[in-house]
Order: sequence, then structure tokens, then C-alpha cells
Amino acid sequence: MDPKTTDWSKLDFSYKYVPYRFHSYWKDGAWDNGKLTTENKLLIDEGAVCLHYGQEIFEGMKAQRSKDGRIRLFRPYENARRFNESAWRLLMPEIPEDRFIDAIKQTLLANEEYIPPYGTGAAMYIRPFMLGVGENLGVKPAKEYQFIVFVTPVGPYFKEGFNPISLKVETYYDRAAAHGIGQAKAGGNYSASLLPLKNAQDEGFNEVVYLDPIHHKYFEETGASNVFFVLKDNVIATPKSESILNSIVRRSVMDVAREDFGYRVEERQVSVDEIDTFLEAGACGTAAVITPIGCLGYEGKRYKFYADGKEPGPITTQLYKHLTALQVGDIEDTRGWLEEVC
Ligand SMILES: *Cc1c(COP(=O)(O)O)cnc(C)c1O
Repeated sequence: MDPKTTDWSKLDFSYKYVPYRFHSYWKDGAWDNGKLTTENKLLIDEGAVCLHYGQEIFEGMKAQRSKDGRIRLFRPYENARRFNESAWRLLMPEIPEDRFIDAIKQTLLANEEYIPPYGTGAAMYIRPFMLGVGENLGVKPAKEYQFIVFVTPVGPYFKEGFNPISLKVETYYDRAAAHGIGQAKAGGNYSASLLPLKNAQDEGFNEVVYLDPIHHKYFEETGASNVFFVLKDNVIATPKSESILNSIVRRSVMDVAREDFGYRVEERQVSVDEIDTFLEAGACGTAAVITPIGCLGYEGKRYKFYADGKEPGPITTQLYKHLTALQVGDIEDTRGWLEEVC
């Protein structure tokens, strides 16, 4: 892509080559200093643990420009912490938080002209990841690791943008086991979600919302975002579970909802039996931002929320406006959530 001729407002959520990415290597107990490179292909051992046994973790973040052109990250130390929690679960080496952030900043600055301008709805998506590499055959942790950060400019994750999507409540397949790796941002969770996602899309839904793997009764999350439900009396409920990914955007939105807008936020098990009582529903995460859910398909029936599922509800809209304004620095960052890149 050519940043000089790109129509930023028309970008989709896809990979586009930009000149630089950051590569670092771990061997004999230590990370090297790492460096920027223009090479976007990897040369790894055919027996690498990541290829056969899924020893891979990643993060997803966004850099955005504020009105004055400055570039900001949203709570990047939370991503650094979660990356190391994922590393712990998959027996991979930790990466010091400052190194993680520094690698991201270097990659952003090297590709600065590709960071979408303010007000276009586009952002620079950041994908840090780690792979278990080196010679291997048996099931055991790798002896060497590669840490990479690439960036790519993106538009909305769902082509609908801020318009309601429909989700299939998945009653058969699970995304993650009860005490598996659902809490880790690890590749294997997403390969498990491809078939249910395809089935749901073939049935006309945009995405899947999973139920808990033990009872198939309590909502978990979609394949790539957490969810929340607006109930009567200004209550917002969001699923609590040990097998979902602990979304930083969901935590942020719930803090804002409680502290700035006075909603009663309940982080608890949310049963499918409550589906009739939802006034609004939303998906939230870095990629999804806040995406309104207009309809849930459950056991052959379609449950529709605000405006018969055709328009975003007022509370979802209020939270979306507040979050997006906060992320680009249009409203004051009273919580110290924004990290300046330059
Ligand atoms: C990344 C991800 C999220 C969102 O997390 P954020 O920290 O808000 O970006 C939610 N669910 C799953 C399964 C994810 O992979």
C-alpha cells in the first residue's frame, strides 16, 4: 500500500505489508537486543514446536493519532503483562515489560507514515507474538524462541462498523476447555474456533458466542472479543469465567460505565435463560472496539434487542462514543491509560 494515496476511511481489517517489523531471539536463557528488519518471511526449523504443538502466543493492540497528530497506545502495559501470563501458561520465556513496549514503539516509529490520520476510523494494529522454534520432534517446550512485532493499518473488524451484528449461540462446540488455555492469547484457541465460525457464517451469522464448557449454560465470549449485556434498571452484566480471555477493553469499558456513568456493573455468570431480559448487547475488544449485537440465535430462535436488532442501543452507543474519544485523546485521560509514542 502507498500511504500517500490510501483512502484511510475505506480500510478493512486485513494484513498489509509495511516496511519494518521487530525481531528478537531467545537462546541459552536470554533475549538478544533485537532489531528492525524489512524481511516479513520467517525461516524456521521444520520441527519447530510452534508448528506442530502450537507453542505460540500473541497480543493485539492499536496505535491511534490524536487531533494534533500525536501517536498514542491504549494501556500497553496491560498487554505486556497478559503476554507474560500467556508465556507462563505455555512454558515460554517472559519478556521484560519495558522491552515489549520499546519493541512496539520502535516498530511504530519506523512505519510512522503508515499510521492512519486522526478522524478516519482507521488505526495501526499491532501484533506482538512469540514462537517456540529450533530443532525438535517430541512434545516438549522449545529450546529457542522468536519474538516479533509487526504492524498493519486497519479499519473495522466487522465490515458492519458500528452497526449491529448477529451471533450464533454455540451449543455444541467449545472454544476452550474449562481449565485449558482459554485465558491465554494462544494460537490453538483460535484454530478451535474456525469450524464453529464457518458453520455460523454459513447459517447467516457474523460470529459465534460460546457457552461455558462444563454446563453449556453460561455465556463466555465470541471468538475474538468479550461480550456484555444491558439489563433493566441500568445494569450491565458481563460474563465471569476462567476460560475466557481477560479483555483489557472490556475491563476499561466496565470501569467507565461504573465510575463515569453510574451503571451497576455485574461481572458474573450470565445464563442463557436470561436471554429474554437483554435490552442491548455488545462485543468488545481491541479489534471489535465496541460492536453492537442486534441478535442472538439460540436453539433455532432469534432473540432481537434494541430496535428489533436494527440499530445500536443508546447505552452501547454512549459507551462506544466515550471509549473511542478516550482512545484518541479527545476527552481527558484521567486514569493514565494513554501511553505516548511521539
Ligand atoms: C484479544 C481477545 C479479546 C479482547 O481483548 P482486548 O484486551 O480487549 O483486546 C477478547 N477475547 C478473545 C478471545 C481475544 O483473543
